[in-house]
Amino acid sequence: MIGKPQETAGCFLKMLQWLHGKDRLKMAIRNIREMGEEVLYKKCREVTEMTPRIKELIEDMLETMYEANGVGLAAPQVGILKRIVVIDVTGEDPHILINPRVVETSGEQTGNEGCLSVPGKCGVVTRPNYVKAVALDVNMKEFEIEATELLARAICHEVDHLEGHLYVERVIGPLKDVEYEDED
Ligand SMILES: [Zn+2]
Repeated sequence: MIGKPQETAGCFLKMLQWLHGKDRLKMAIRNIREMGEEVLYKKCREVTEMTPRIKELIEDMLETMYEANGVGLAAPQVGILKRIVVIDVTGEDPHILINPRVVETSGEQTGNEGCLSVPGKCGVVTRPNYVKAVALDVNMKEFEIEATELLARAICHEVDHLEGHLYVERVIGPLKDVEYEDED
């Protein structure tokens, strides 16, 4: 999902240290797939074990998301059909969700949503205002995450990607062009 530009360097480094200790592997910005590419419309497979390759994928997803000023990215958006999403709606609070499942929702929020796979566009989508999800962390340990507002929206948006769905299917009214604010 796309969000406001954010200061990310500090928390990103922290996340890398957490993932790898002192041994920073080389990271890479991956190519973000765009609407129309087949990989975005397929159901993703569960992750059954953590491997160095998957850790590298997660690092690359974080770096790719921050570089693109996104607040969330799902593995199929970088061409990998695995149930992995990364989300950070504040720039200081990265979440890694492996095999996430939404187990409870309540309320409603209606607002603009965008997607790194649909560049330059946004549209109005209604989502639950509260979401409880269960997922695995990078140690393949199950945890629960409760979210409201933008984080709840991001979780729903990213879990949709894992099922091969884009937010444009849920948009109320037309897709609009994003107006970017000038950066000072
Ligand atoms: Zn998206």
